[in-house]
This record gives sequence, C-alpha cells and structure tokens, in this order.
Amino acid sequence: MAAPSKKVTINGREVSIPTGLFINNEFVKARGGKTFEVEDPATAKVLLSIEEGQPEDVDIAVKAARKAFESGWAESDPAWRGSLLLRLADLLEKDQEDVIAIEVADSGKTLKQAQTIDLPGAIGTIRYYASWADKVYGRTASTAPGTFSYTLREPIGVCGQIIPWNFPLLMFIWKIAPALATGNTIVIKSAETTPLSALKMCELIKEAGFPPGTVNLVSGYGKTVGAAMANHMDIDKLAFTGSTATGRTILKAAASSNLKKVTLELGGKSPNIVFPDADLSQAVDWSVFGIDMHAGQVCHAGSRIYVHEDIYDSFLKAFTDKMAAIKVGANFSGDTDQGPQQNKLQYDRILSLIEAGKKEGATLHFGGQPLPDRDGYFIEPTIFTDATSDMKIVKEEIFGPVVVIIKFRSEEEVLALANDTRYGLAAGVHTKDYQRAIRMTKKLKAGTTWVNMFNYIHWSMPFGGYKESGIGRELGGEVLDNYTQVKTVFFNMDVPAPNSA
Ligand code: ADP
Repeated sequence: MAAPSKKVTINGREVSIPTGLFINNEFVKARGGKTFEVEDPATAKVLLSIEEGQPEDVDIAVKAARKAFESGWAESDPAWRGSLLLRLADLLEKDQEDVIAIEVADSGKTLKQAQTIDLPGAIGTIRYYASWADKVYGRTASTAPGTFSYTLREPIGVCGQIIPWNFPLLMFIWKIAPALATGNTIVIKSAETTPLSALKMCELIKEAGFPPGTVNLVSGYGKTVGAAMANHMDIDKLAFTGSTATGRTILKAAASSNLKKVTLELGGKSPNIVFPDADLSQAVDWSVFGIDMHAGQVCHAGSRIYVHEDIYDSFLKAFTDKMAAIKVGANFSGDTDQGPQQNKLQYDRILSLIEAGKKEGATLHFGGQPLPDRDGYFIEPTIFTDATSDMKIVKEEIFGPVVVIIKFRSEEEVLALANDTRYGLAAGVHTKDYQRAIRMTKKLKAGTTWVNMFNYIHWSMPFGGYKESGIGRELGGEVLDNYTQVKTVFFNMDVPAPNSA
C-alpha cells in the first residue's frame, strides 16, 4: 500500500518528505503497521513520523533488488548507468535547498557545514562515480603458449548497505554511487535517528530514471532491519559504516549466514601531533576543526592532540581561545559553528565520558557542560589536559566535542603514544620539516594521514581503517574493488589436453 509524503516546515521553508519504505520505485507502508518518530536534535521536538521497516520488508526489498539485478541492470550499458548518476547529481543540485533543510533539521549539523561540506561532497561523489562507470577494466595475462586469458570485473549482486547518523546524506551517496556505477542493486538502511535525507534522495532516484528495484530503502532499527540484512541469505555483499561494536556483530552475522562479503568503516580515536616547528596558528585552526567539525561526531575526529613540550603552553592557550570562540547554538543560523549532538543517547554518553575523565583524574581545562536554557542536545566544546593513556577519555571514541591534549618530548615517544590504540582510522602531523612528515606518516598506523591539516576527505582518494577501524576502503578507485568480483577466463587456442594421446 502506498505511503504518502508529508509537508513539514523547516526553518520557514515548506518541504515535502516521503514517509514510506522505498521498494520497486514506490513509497510503501511497512509490514506490521508500525511507524517511528524522527526528532530535531536542536529542539528535541518531533519532526514527523515515518514507516518502520521489519525483517519481512527486507525480504521484499531484497527480492525487488534481485529481480532488478537479474533483469538487465547488471549487464546494462555502463555509460547509461553513468548518465543516470549524472542526472541524479543534477537533480540533487536543483533540489539542494530542500535537501539541505531536511539534512540540517534531521542531523543537527550546521547550515554552514551542510552547504560547504556535505552537499558539495555528495554531488561531487555522484559525478565522480558516474565517470567511473565505463572505466572498470579487467586485465589480460601471459599464460602458457596456446592459451589466452583475461579477467572480468563483474558486479557482486544485491548489496546491503547500512549507514550511520553523523553524515546521513553523504554516507548514503558514498554507498550507493560506486555500487550503482558497477552494476549492483541495493537495499539500504538509514540510521533510525536520521532517516529523512535518504527518503528525499529516493524521490530523486526515481525521477532520475533508475529502473524499479535498483535502489531500495528500508528505514528502521538496527536490531530488526539491520540484523535482518546482515543475516540475509540473498544479500551478496554488505557495506557498513558505524561503530566498531556493531561492525563486529555484522561480521559474525555474515559468517554464520551466507558468507556475504563485508566491508566495514568503523570508529576511530585519531591522534593529531603538533611539532614545535609547525605554523602554530594553522596548527591550532586545523586542530580545532579536527575535533569540532559536526560537534565531534566524526569517525576520524582528532580527539587526541599531542603537543611538543616546547610549544605546549602557547598551543594550549591559542587552542583554548579558539575553542572558547566557537559559537554553539541554533544550527540554521549562518554564523553558528557547532550545533547539537545528534541524539539523546549520544548526548548522555558524551556527558558520562566527561564525568569519567574527571573521576579518573584528568584536568577539565575548558567546557564540559551541557548548554543551559536549551531543549536540544548541546554540549560545550571541551578540553581535558593531564590525561594518561589508560584513561577512558584517551582510549574510547567519545564522538563529541571533547579533546585531550597531551604533552610529548620526542618523536619516538609520540609515535608510541599515537599508535597505542586499537583504532587506526586517521592521524595528523603538523610540522614544516618534510622529512619528518614523511617519516611520521609512514610510521603512523592509520588508513588516512594528514600533514598540516585535519579531517580533509576527497572522493578521489580512498578512505578506511587499519586495525579495528575497518575492513576495505570507501571512495577513490579502490572502493570499486569492493563492489566488483573478479572472474578469470581461460581460453584454449591450440593446447592439447594433458591426457591426449
Ligand atoms: P551508534 O552506536 O553510533 O548509533 P551503530 O553502529 O549502532 O552506531 O549504528 C550505525 C548503523 O548500524 C545504524 O544504521 C544502526 O541502525 C545500525 N545497527 C545497529 N545495530 C545493528 C545490528 N545489530 N545489526 C545491523 N545494523 C545495526
């Protein structure tokens, strides 16, 4: 049965948002008749209610995706798939005001960030993979004389994709664009606290002309919809972005079901190292951006800052001044730097980790309080000093605007401290000494390393984790390896069988 779109007024703008699950290019009601409420984290008020998918809906969506895969999409002209993606990018550009309004209200990110990072990132990524669609190559090999051999890169099939709540639009695009370019079909689940921009994107997917069943969206909870996807016997690949704990659960589910191929982009506790020869003012700016982008709710956030003893005091002063100047507040205001934390669960978790930091003996140097007089989930930018490696605030991913600043004396010491973590997503170094920069980036155990910057990601370069931060890579040409499988073809030209007379 069809589910209607609803009109919602966001920041004075009336936008229409689909409420149904998106299956076979239709917005439909979920099995079981349940809906769930979506909240604006800046006000803690309900924005609207949408259909809540169930495991049976996942089955229906997988069947639609399988049918679309088998009935032409997998073998379609790659240039045509690219042209559909280009059309989708154009539609997103055209409807950007609506999509941005939805994304800002739903995720709590600032208008400034949505306009300058999320939206251009989403459009750029779609166009990048549109142009990859007809550039996926196999290779030929020098096998024995009389034989001719080559490889084909074929789509994997039905891809399950599970995304988190910190970058709802961008993660949706990071996932669907390379999968579609390479001829896969999709069943995607948005995060239960930020499902709205994905719904809007499905409207545009239909308008762009993607065939029914190519992309299917089942909104709902992790323990029902997500688990049904991870355990599904007819999903061929699962791509997940989220916490390390959930990533582990998904990997186990894949292992005990059909051994679907799994890629995981997980948590981080990224070190950010400032040497005495760095440009201090630039290092401060990037380090503040490193922890405060989207109120710290970024998996590669620079949440452990290591500063050389020679500049520790001057860095701490300048960093604190800059953190103090951050404007926290209404995320639709053009000059707001930091909005609310995305949801109540996360807000409570951050506050409890701040308490743990105090209890374990670190010094709360700045911030640490929720914003008074606000109904939403706002927390001050927070700095801890005098922290040691055994403390929770140094070991655990906080996913909030909370940073520890630790003094170091030598390159060797800081490398050991920086790498002393089960995570390995990203790391940064600030120095003007390029030999040191090369040495450090080589020795830091992380999938992305930055020199004199932080939190910079580009669709043309791979992104993913070492150690417990993940398996596989997103973005770049590299992600295409995760959405294709290699078939080897051997041709016999004139070689007799080994057992021939
Ligand atoms: P967080 O703890 O930050 O919310 P999660 O890793 O739990 O991060 O969430 C990321 C995504 O994983 C969300 O879409 C969520 O619904 C989904 N998810 C949560 N639990 C499971 C699960 N057991 N199986 C599959 N997906 C899940």
